[in-house]
Amino acid sequence: MRIANLQGRAVLVQGGNALDIAEASEGRFGPAPRAVFEQWEAFTAWAGSAQLGEGVPFDEGQLDAPVTDPRQVFAIGLNYRDHADEAKLAHPDDIIVFTKFPSSIDGPNATVKLPSDRVDYETELVVVIGKQLHRADLATARAAIAGYTVGQDYSERAVQGRGPAPQFSLGKSFPGFSPFGPAVVTLDEFANPDALRITAVIEGPTAKAHDTDALTLQDGNTADLIFPVDRVLSDLSQIVTLYPGDVVFTGTPAGVGAAKGIFLKPGDVLTSTIEGIGSMRNTFE
Ligand code: ZN
Repeated sequence: MRIANLQGRAVLVQGGNALDIAEASEGRFGPAPRAVFEQWEAFTAWAGSAQLGEGVPFDEGQLDAPVTDPRQVFAIGLNYRDHADEAKLAHPDDIIVFTKFPSSIDGPNATVKLPSDRVDYETELVVVIGKQLHRADLATARAAIAGYTVGQDYSERAVQGRGPAPQFSLGKSFPGFSPFGPAVVTLDEFANPDALRITAVIEGPTAKAHDTDALTLQDGNTADLIFPVDRVLSDLSQIVTLYPGDVVFTGTPAGVGAAKGIFLKPGDVLTSTIEGIGSMRNTFE
């Protein structure tokens, strides 16, 4: 299944069509997107057995983030070996965690206003939670995953690095800095949900400065995560309680701008893609 947020209403994306979940379930599920994840078990049972309609064609440009109001947003730092290496930092023994404040959430096609000339991209696999978790083992953690989607952990490196201790959460929470989407894809849709190619390609002034129309910035695979998704959720849950609708950014592979000397410019267009999920397309001004 592919669950998306079309103008504030939860929809099932089927082919090029969107089926309104609240209408199809006669009000049992949705219309608020988070409500679907809060009733995840009942919803998936219903969706698996109901005679679902075809839905109607829709404009992908009108999709918002699959959950716009999660109780919590977690993000994991240095979770790919090649990214830790390019940052010249040691591979962590434990997950490194910060938050992206929910006011920074935006849709998959958002236009992002650049607050400075030090804004970087981090293309990430994003997990949406479908079941409350606390002190969960790996199998319980895995069973609590509603699905995967694509996200960007945009980062203002000057704020992130200022002061005697890093300011990850603040530097990564300007408006529009946490877009994700286009849809939450359940794990049964993937041949192997633990090995998905993840890429970022930029067009516009930054590509032109490199004498090309489209410059590949990141090209990784989620198989290279130091802490795989079930481990991230299990480790988080040893301390905090995770709730349905919570969102976890799982870290970025190598190729970030800070390592390449590239920062986003007005007019750039960044396409972030994960195999089997789809793409986001963000424009900068
Ligand atoms: Zn990140």
